[in-house]
Amino acid sequence: MTPGTATLERPAEMTRAVITGPKELVFERLPVPEPGPSQVLVRMLASALCTWEQRTFVGIEKGYPLAGGHEYSGVAAAIGPSVQVSGLAVGDLVTVSGLPRCGQCYSCRHRADNLCDNARGPRVPGQPFGPGGFSEYVRAEGHQVFKVGPLATPEEAALSEPLACVLHDMKRHPVRANDVVVIVGAGIMGLLHLAVARRTPSFIIVSEPERVRREKALELGAHAVIDPATEDYVARVNELSGGRGANVTYVAIGVTGAIEKAVAAAAKRGVVSAYASVHPRGSTISVDPNIFHNREVTLGGSYSQERDDFIASAELIGRREIDLRPLISRTFPLSRLSDAFEEALRKDAYRVLVLPDAEFAAKA
Ligand SMILES: [Zn+2]
Ligand SMILES: [Zn+2]
Repeated sequence: MTPGTATLERPAEMTRAVITGPKELVFERLPVPEPGPSQVLVRMLASALCTWEQRTFVGIEKGYPLAGGHEYSGVAAAIGPSVQVSGLAVGDLVTVSGLPRCGQCYSCRHRADNLCDNARGPRVPGQPFGPGGFSEYVRAEGHQVFKVGPLATPEEAALSEPLACVLHDMKRHPVRANDVVVIVGAGIMGLLHLAVARRTPSFIIVSEPERVRREKALELGAHAVIDPATEDYVARVNELSGGRGANVTYVAIGVTGAIEKAVAAAAKRGVVSAYASVHPRGSTISVDPNIFHNREVTLGGSYSQERDDFIASAELIGRREIDLRPLISRTFPLSRLSDAFEEALRKDAYRVLVLPDAEFAAKA
């Protein structure tokens, strides 16, 4: 099929959900946009509710109105004439890196497009900000669109973004054979770290205060679990590692004390990654800096994903080398986005997704 001429049938109008305030949603009707020359129009098939949107929905993060939804998959419905994504054709299952990378700033051109200087972009007054994945159609730049292989369902493909973020963290802070790995927090991000760590022969400990989540971690292959609410985290890591400490620790919860303890429980030359954002922003941690000198411990972090992480994620999911099905908790039609948010806030929920809605489609 020749890009630029090929398109799928599409309606004139679509529905887009916008978060307008704490626990407030509106469903707008808009014209289905035309893709520009370098853009792809994607018909959404599955869109996941990430922590950022959950925090905005409950009011922890402000920034209204937000057209949320940055973890989604869909069908390439129309492809602009100058898009040259390898092998991409209309009708293909794709996933989209919904967070902007301008491709032109210093960070984008200096091997750190995840840290794009223009990622927040200019806000247009009166227009909701955001990636807009809680919509029936989304327009995306060609370089942000990734084809997903045939084994993935749209729901699995929608989780390419969070897996790409985890692959980015684990590229920066890799697991080596025979490492003692600790994952702090068994929410979806912790469990994605577990799924990737399992592919290297290593001993994996998961620390998590919620029993249901510890059980899930064991089910998915953790070798040991710690309940940091009732057990001494540092003592337990030392005990489980034969006194040597953790070689690599991923702190997948935004808790300052957890980062401090992870540093204290690190092995000589151990690496600790502060993977999650910490709220309120501006919080501080307190560690004895001699641990960096005497024990050569490294404390680092990780933010979002780069393009190569996204390609890897889409391909791993497309071949089902990493099986994300155990992390898909429930799906709702787009019109029940509010119920989907309530569900996503449950302790035993990992990813909740919204799917296209027959009711909206009938309006078109
Ligand atoms: Zn996300
Ligand atoms: Zn940039």
